[in-house]
Amino acid sequence: MDLRYWMGRATDAIQEWADAFGPYPAHASVLVDDDRFAEAFEEFTGRLSDNYPFFHPRYAGQMLKPPHPAAVVGYLTAMLINPNNHALDGGPATARMEREAVAQLAAMFGYDTHLGHLTTSGTIANLEALFVARELHPGQGIAYSSDAHYTHGRMCHVLGMKGHPVRTDDRGRMDLDALDDLLRTGEVGTVVLTTGTTGLGAVDPVHEALTLKERYGVRIHVDGAYGGFFTLLAGADGPEGLLPEPWRAIARCDSIVVDPHKHGLQPYGCGAVLFRDPGVGRFYLHDSPYTYFTSTELHLGEISLECSRAGASAAALWLTFRLLPPTPQGLGQVLAAGRRAALNWAELITASDVLRLYQHPELDIVTYFPAVRPATLSAIDAASARVLADGMTGPDPVFLSTLKADREAFTARHAGITADGQGARVLRSVLMKPESEHHVKQLHARVEELARTR
Ligand SMILES: *Cc1c(COP(=O)(O)O)cnc(C)c1O
Repeated sequence: MDLRYWMGRATDAIQEWADAFGPYPAHASVLVDDDRFAEAFEEFTGRLSDNYPFFHPRYAGQMLKPPHPAAVVGYLTAMLINPNNHALDGGPATARMEREAVAQLAAMFGYDTHLGHLTTSGTIANLEALFVARELHPGQGIAYSSDAHYTHGRMCHVLGMKGHPVRTDDRGRMDLDALDDLLRTGEVGTVVLTTGTTGLGAVDPVHEALTLKERYGVRIHVDGAYGGFFTLLAGADGPEGLLPEPWRAIARCDSIVVDPHKHGLQPYGCGAVLFRDPGVGRFYLHDSPYTYFTSTELHLGEISLECSRAGASAAALWLTFRLLPPTPQGLGQVLAAGRRAALNWAELITASDVLRLYQHPELDIVTYFPAVRPATLSAIDAASARVLADGMTGPDPVFLSTLKADREAFTARHAGITADGQGARVLRSVLMKPESEHHVKQLHARVEELARTR
């Protein structure tokens, strides 16, 4: 896959299409000569060098990596036309691609029926799910685990609903006994379960929570913004296979969010929300005096809170899915590699005398800390911060991230630690690039070296 070749094909293909409409002169107001462009471009690319190398396996920090070449080419090609997926009048081709890609996501989660669309982000996608939740259970609140993404608490505030954090167990999963106690009060109308928390990758027990759904008549929304695509590894053979129950249970939940811009190989600007009951479209009903005139078919803006959305995002996802479909044999192989990398690294850390595993990785996030003496939270915090900072400098860099673990969470996992503070930062690596699989030994050796020197 030669990206330069395909980027050239992208411009050629759109030019061929444009030529059919006849020549037209560009307006003087937008003309820029190449010398000035070159100067600005030089400055621009210089500025961009102030970045972390997300593409490289040395980068083992946050959930960041460049999009797949197919996504880049799909995005670029469609962007040359710049369709707006708000309405079919804004770009019929990419609106249809969006519906097809969303249907593939629905099939991946085993939804028999669905209504859904792409969004700009997981944040907006979750906001939409909570908005529908509020319309269906007015006056009742939302429960989510204390390890859920902070967006849920914030969006409850935006929507004027009460948010109820529920405590987690010693692996970061929602404690269902605590949830049961909360649901008994009748104050909660919807439970948010996270399949892959952003910090640790913990998977809430969706299958067990379903019995509470029946008992209390609550809605269940699944936040799979980060972890949703791991459903492709449910029940898979090999060490990367995941216990299938929570993932299979998603098909019986009311809504789900997944971010193709996290594990779906897409550039930023691509989240998705899916509802199992297409009838919830009624909560979005509105009329637009400006749009919806070319077709009586459903316009995506009629089922979305956002108005303008990049048709290019849908194009990128559609083209990617043509080549790497959201199936175990397609995209699943990409996730499997990251997960094997996480498991292999966890094994090396467990055997190490200078590093300790904070928690066994459930998906592809590895959390660990330097084995300092005395083993106090303050010493661990300082050592983690130092490894993070030292890792980024020097000739053999590694780029990690940190996670704040509070005192209760820490001591629940490591009883021998002296809790001399409110918590400690631990090191965190999201191994979401398949290339990481072949770089685990080097990563481990470098991080051990950093932890050893003080
Ligand atoms: C990333 C994430 C979000 C927020 O999504 P954005 O696309 O960053 O807006 C919400 N929930 C979870 C679990 C996430 O990992």
